[in-house]
Amino acid sequence: MMKTNHKISQVEDYEQYIGSEAVDRIRRKAQPLSDLHIVHVNSTYYGGGVAEIMSSLVLLFNSLGIKTGWRIIQGSPSFFSITKKIHNALQGSDINLTQLKKEIYETVIYENSIRNHLDHDMVIIHDPQPLPMINHFRKRGPWIWRCHIDMTEPNQELWNYLMQFIEKYDAVIFSLDEYKQKMNTPQVLFQPAIDPFTIKNKELTQDEIMERLDHYDIPTDLPIVAQISRFDPWKDPRGVIDAFKIARKEVDATLVLVGNVATDDPEGNKVYESLLDCKEDRIILLSYQDSALVNALQRKAAVIVQKSIREGFGLTVTEAMWKGAAVIGGNVGGIRYQIEDGKNGFLVSSVQEAAERMVTLLKDDQLRKNMGIAAKESVTQKYLLTRLLEQYLDMFHSFETAYRLSSD
Ligand code: UDP
Repeated sequence: MMKTNHKISQVEDYEQYIGSEAVDRIRRKAQPLSDLHIVHVNSTYYGGGVAEIMSSLVLLFNSLGIKTGWRIIQGSPSFFSITKKIHNALQGSDINLTQLKKEIYETVIYENSIRNHLDHDMVIIHDPQPLPMINHFRKRGPWIWRCHIDMTEPNQELWNYLMQFIEKYDAVIFSLDEYKQKMNTPQVLFQPAIDPFTIKNKELTQDEIMERLDHYDIPTDLPIVAQISRFDPWKDPRGVIDAFKIARKEVDATLVLVGNVATDDPEGNKVYESLLDCKEDRIILLSYQDSALVNALQRKAAVIVQKSIREGFGLTVTEAMWKGAAVIGGNVGGIRYQIEDGKNGFLVSSVQEAAERMVTLLKDDQLRKNMGIAAKESVTQKYLLTRLLEQYLDMFHSFETAYRLSSD
């Protein structure tokens, strides 16, 4: 590439958190892979955890000298409505997967396969939307399916249908051990991670925080309780409002729900509109995509909530913990791995419990502070992007070895 004054993050930037040995180890692992050409495929550039990880991970790979691309599939509203149903059914909902729906799903993916020329050494397909692409290419190296969804109880009929595609992959990556399925395809586990240098996660000054909150007319006279999530029933925004109403009988606060609408999630607007009747002076609903606002809120709020009912991993929890926030999370999926109940946050299983924890935290500054310190420490240890990057490097090495052995 041509020389430029612009700069992207390098693994060396992480040295302050992971130490110089880890930086050297990552460089050493990357070096022999530098002639690989890799591509990731998913279905949206922004609006959810997958896009968030891709935005940083792909750049970091390139800065390490491994040519890594990122493609987005295109689709009609009916396609994304079907793929959201598929997503919901993998998280346990019923689905009426008619022949016509399968035809739309598979045809749109075929069209995307024509438009995208995937002749890379390794192809990583994210989530069910682009899954069937594997049917339309001659493999030149491993194809990996990276599933970010909470797979505690997938709908079996759907799973059986998807297996025809999944079993063609060389490996499947899930976020947690309990999401593993019965299948012959090798399964590996990578938990997601965050980039501490983005607008969403970097340090902000008090002035910068206040500027963002003022911009959206968010009052700061009372402590803030906030949930930042796509407007999605699995994130249980209504449960958060109900819990807040109970908590407010004992302690005064302002609730802020912020949610963006991802291009691959057609349910968002409906869920947002269904909540509008809950709006009050002290219950604020905002539907915007603004990473600096997310950062400011996670830093300013007394309590961050992520009361999910299902959650593949829950990057919003990681992001808030990174900022030293006291987090109340639903006792599900990846949230359970991030929050150690009572130590670096609270896990809850009902509206009532969420309300009680809100009251406890709002009344106890010291507890919030201690939990926040423990939270930041655990993200530093386990959830920074370099850990995920290294897992990918290890996986690429194992494939390189396997492919070299098989072609010898
Ligand atoms: N997010 C955002 N603005 C919003 C809501 C969410 O930028 O209004 C981001 C959030 O900061 C996080 C991601 O979207 O990076 C959500 O990831 P998570 O794993 O929590 O849930 P998902 O949406 O993937 O189910």
